[in-house]
Amino acid sequence: MKNSEFSRHRRLRTSQTMRRFVRETDLTVDDLVYPLFIVEGENIKNEVSSMPGVFQISLDYLDDEIDELVSLGIPSLLLFGVPKEKDEVGSGAYDPNGIVQQAIRHIKNKTDQLLIIADTCLCEYTSHGHCGVIEHQDVDNDKSLPLHVKTAVTQAEAGADIIAPSNMMDGFVSEIRKGLDEAGFENIPIMSYAVKYASAFYGPFRDAADSTPQFGDRKTYQMDPANRLEALREAASDIEEGADFLIVKPALSYMDIIRDVKNQHPVPVVAYNVSGEYSMVKAASLNGWVDEKAIVLEKFIAMKRAGADIIITYFAKDVAKWLQDN
Ligand SMILES: [Zn+2]
Repeated sequence: MKNSEFSRHRRLRTSQTMRRFVRETDLTVDDLVYPLFIVEGENIKNEVSSMPGVFQISLDYLDDEIDELVSLGIPSLLLFGVPKEKDEVGSGAYDPNGIVQQAIRHIKNKTDQLLIIADTCLCEYTSHGHCGVIEHQDVDNDKSLPLHVKTAVTQAEAGADIIAPSNMMDGFVSEIRKGLDEAGFENIPIMSYAVKYASAFYGPFRDAADSTPQFGDRKTYQMDPANRLEALREAASDIEEGADFLIVKPALSYMDIIRDVKNQHPVPVVAYNVSGEYSMVKAASLNGWVDEKAIVLEKFIAMKRAGADIIITYFAKDVAKWLQDN
């Protein structure tokens, strides 16, 4: 019964135990996916200059990474490949012996404790840096689809547990689903980059993946940051085509979209905390301007509150350690 003229909200904040007791959202190590850049060659461990603490590594450094991720209890990693050779049609992406396919086999041989998510795109492998085949200075949707299907199938053959197409071609989920099913991989789920905005927050990633477009931009296939209804159409068509997970990318400036997608689709929703979001926090914390741990944990709890079930983040190892400390 109310016994005063106003509400006593502070009653539920009186102690750490009380706050824990009434907390509505939680963040656990099970929510995390760690992105990893595998570069062709030997004895390579290059720190990405715009992403302190993030490295491109060659296969011979992979064991250390796997051991660390398993010991921290992180359940999943997302693989990107950085090939030596690039060409017009991104052949390295669907080479059965490509860098990502080799990395997948290597991880599979070593552990069954990590879910391997393969990013399925061509932009790291094309000489022009775009996510498909170029015709008339633009990415040709329908000509690009078969190459994305080939990429996904070779990744599944290598042992990928989840296929994550990021190319934003129309029909990519249905074509990849069909291709995987025909190759006998009907149990391999698709984690679709369903809602991927043409964002300035991807800048540092392009240093890490060496995938900067050599002409133009990606605005004819990635989405306009101003659009919300379009995000719902993208998510709906991907679900119809067979997506098992929906990614919203980037995360921090698109919390409303994460919530909208979660409200409309009863599937796991994945927030991609992208490179620019990482680098901004890193730069500010290296300058002593913000408390890195507090800021990162706050933004991840906010993504969970917005509706994300899973978070892809370069902070995954740090978060796993901080959660252990807590
Ligand atoms: Zn791409």
